[in-house]
Amino acid sequence: MLFQEVIGQNSIKEKIIHTVLNDRISHAQLFHGKLGAGTFAMALALSRFVFCSSKTKTDSCGTCPSCLKINSLTHPDLHFSFPVQLLKNRETADDFIALWREMILANPYSNEQDWYAKNDNENKKGIIGVKESESVFKKLNMKSYEGGYKICIFWLAENMNTPSANKLLKLIEEPPDRTLLFLVAEDIQQILPTILSRTQVVKFNTLSEKEMVETMVRTNEVTQDKAIEIASYVNGDYSLALNEIAKKESANVFFDMFVQWMRLCFKKDVAGAVSFSADAQKLGKEKQKAFLLFVLNIFQKSLVGSHLGMDAVKTSETYKDFIQKFMPYIHERNIESLHTEMSEAHYHIDRNANSKILFLDLSFTLFKLIKK
Ligand SMILES: [Zn+2]
Repeated sequence: MLFQEVIGQNSIKEKIIHTVLNDRISHAQLFHGKLGAGTFAMALALSRFVFCSSKTKTDSCGTCPSCLKINSLTHPDLHFSFPVQLLKNRETADDFIALWREMILANPYSNEQDWYAKNDNENKKGIIGVKESESVFKKLNMKSYEGGYKICIFWLAENMNTPSANKLLKLIEEPPDRTLLFLVAEDIQQILPTILSRTQVVKFNTLSEKEMVETMVRTNEVTQDKAIEIASYVNGDYSLALNEIAKKESANVFFDMFVQWMRLCFKKDVAGAVSFSADAQKLGKEKQKAFLLFVLNIFQKSLVGSHLGMDAVKTSETYKDFIQKFMPYIHERNIESLHTEMSEAHYHIDRNANSKILFLDLSFTLFKLIKK
């Protein structure tokens, strides 16, 4: 990963490049935001830049011995710590590193769900346990192989349990010589406040639709129209965009589901709502969350359409046709309630609410809210 390969986030790039070139890099940093916003990609590009022996003022060279080792994620002074699904005698990142490396090499924007899918177990959450922190502690307390910095990137640091986090805190408070700790976290509330107060937090905003469309078209062989369609509902998360591209079926599952849902809501069709909730349950947690964001996005676009005209709606032609017919039903009298309902549902799904009951409830609320 070179800085130029990290999508967008230019002001963050400039700032961190500046700290390295002026030898003012802070030893513990937390990149906060979605993996799909490029938090890990940035940590990796930064590590490469620190190690690169022929860096320019804007990026690593990509060809020096250090850069070549980073290309294969095998630089001996760059360590990775990440959540694992604990198994007997397999409790540290080292036990899973080959699989994780394979995923990251294929896609540095991989997310937590991709990782569990890679382990053939999408429903078990991984943790960064105490055995893992002990292993990191040991590695960072050894001398560096190449005489320079030692770096550890914590991928999804919020998955540390408390004993593990306390061990990390010790590392942050009394860092071994020339050691850099880069924490990457999506949910900052799960990080110990004592760690937060001792790290430099860098907040990553989600990517713009424009940045994602350009990258998708340039690097993934998708058409402009398809890229616009995907960007319109993944909420600035490039990991989700890549997952959408990877799906071979061209019909958009979310869009079809949405249309079906709205139809049954207009008709106040209770039996339809029951079967819809059962279908929604089958999606699984991550897709349910993405679906709700998709729905919210169509609501917002409909409001834009009715206020500013269809020319102001940035989306694909298929969606435009639908939005044109749908927009009279979304207006200032219901948009706020709709927004609240969708956001709350998203929140509860994230905290493992029963999704079937949740979608049924939500359908009944929409019966009342969606009208001209
Ligand atoms: Zn280099």
